This record gives sequence, structure tokens and C-alpha cells, in this order.
Amino acid sequence: METNTRSEMTRTPTVAHLRHRAEVPMLMLAGLLTAAGMVVAVVVGATGAQVPGWAQAAVLGIVGTGLAALVLIRFNYWRQIANSVEITGRQFPEIHQIYQELLDQMELDPSPRLYVGNGNGVLNAYAAKCQVRRSYVVIFSDLVDVAYELGDFNAVRFVLAHELGHIKCGHVDLWRLAISAVPRVLFLNRSLVRAQEYTADRCAAYYAPEGAMGLMVLFAGKRLYPRVNPDAYFDSVQNHRDGFWLRAANFWSNHAVGFRRMEPLRRLAAEGWDVHGKML
Ligand SMILES: [Zn+2]
Repeated sequence: METNTRSEMTRTPTVAHLRHRAEVPMLMLAGLLTAAGMVVAVVVGATGAQVPGWAQAAVLGIVGTGLAALVLIRFNYWRQIANSVEITGRQFPEIHQIYQELLDQMELDPSPRLYVGNGNGVLNAYAAKCQVRRSYVVIFSDLVDVAYELGDFNAVRFVLAHELGHIKCGHVDLWRLAISAVPRVLFLNRSLVRAQEYTADRCAAYYAPEGAMGLMVLFAGKRLYPRVNPDAYFDSVQNHRDGFWLRAANFWSNHAVGFRRMEPLRRLAAEGWDVHGKML
């Protein structure tokens, strides 16, 4: 049965195709841990059992963080975009056109607004909620420089497809925020985020495959990355010990470390959706 081939990659994927295989199990674990935490809270409340001070502080911290987050999505949005420049048909039109093409291909509605913010040397972009039903995307100026100064619009297209992948796959939905507090206390939230980042990379690898190796900009910097020899890079990764410390570094990362993150991007287009980045 031909299920894992290049031909499969040419068909429009479902969200299930796009998701990294660890994302749903991690979500279920987060949901179960949150439910267990709520049951404990209800039982303690109903029986009046003595709760240690540290546990009270933890519960207050979790509930407080959740409530604050609902307010903070508005505050963070305005604090960011009021210091940014919106990308429109009349403002950085080349980037806007790429973004519009992606919105159409990815069938996202309503369209999230796109802004460029001053990166001050930081190479980053993110997608977030500004209202319950509306999202937005910010790309930092140092990544846009890659397009206008180096002419690499493919790399920017990949980054934008990655961010829209977060929106398409529901990563910015508020209920995910609600179930992240308990895993965060247990040091498991980074693994959920890491799975989501792999998912967003899979989206970008499908909608902007020609920009996948442009992600090397994160590891070699925006001036040097066009000179990186991919074959030598992957040979070098192979020549490093794949052991405990690499896994520990990856476990402690929201985004998979470069040694892990680049590998599926290299193989996805040729080998199909069964290529998944390693969680550890
Ligand atoms: Zn991401």
C-alpha cells in the first residue's frame, strides 16, 4: 500500500497529517493532569483537608496565571502591535503577498493580521490570540531583513507558514493555555510545546518546502546561514554522540534543538508524513 510517498505529500494534507505524532498524546496527558488537579482541589475543598502552604501557593499560582492570561492576551497584543508596523498591501507589499498566498492555501479565516516588530538582533516570530476568536502574527525585523537584504523570500515564507501552522492546528486556542498550568509545574509543558513546534514545522515544510533549509538562519545567523553546507551540517550532526546530554538538552527546549529540528525538514519532502522529529 502506497501511503508514505512523495505523491502523498503533493495532496492537500489534513490537520491530522500535519500534526506531529506526539502532539495529541501530550495534549491528552495535559488534559488528564489538569482534570486530576481539579479533582484534588474539589476533594480538598469538600472535605476541608489540611493543605500544605506550598500546595496552596501552587494552586493560587496556577489559577492566578490562568486568569491573568485572559487579560494578558489583550494587553500583550496592544503592547506589541502599538510598537510594530502592520504589513499590508502598501507596507512591505512583497511580504504581504506571500502572506496572502499562504492564507489562501491554508484556508484560514478570519485572516490574522501580520506585523513586523523590531527584532534588535533576535530572530523570532510568533502567533498568538488577540481575542477569543482572532489571532495575529508578528515577525521580527531581523527575519524580514533576510528577505530584503539577502533576497531570501523563501525563508520568510517558511517562517510565516510555520506561524500560520500554529493557528491552523489550534495551538493558540485558549483552552490549550488553560491545560498548560499543571504540566508546567511538572516540567512537561515544554514537551507539549516542542510537539506543537514540530507540527508547525511540518505545516511549513508542506506549504513552503523551498524555504525549509532557510531555518538554518536560526543556527548560523542571518549573515552566515546562506553559506552553510547542508550536507556537511548533517554529516556533522551524525558524527556527534546521540546520547543522554543531547536528549536532555532537547527535553529542556520549547523548540527542538537544531540537531533534532533540521533532520525531519530534510527528509519530509522525500519520505512523507511518517517522518517525525525526535521528542528526546
Ligand atoms: Zn513555532
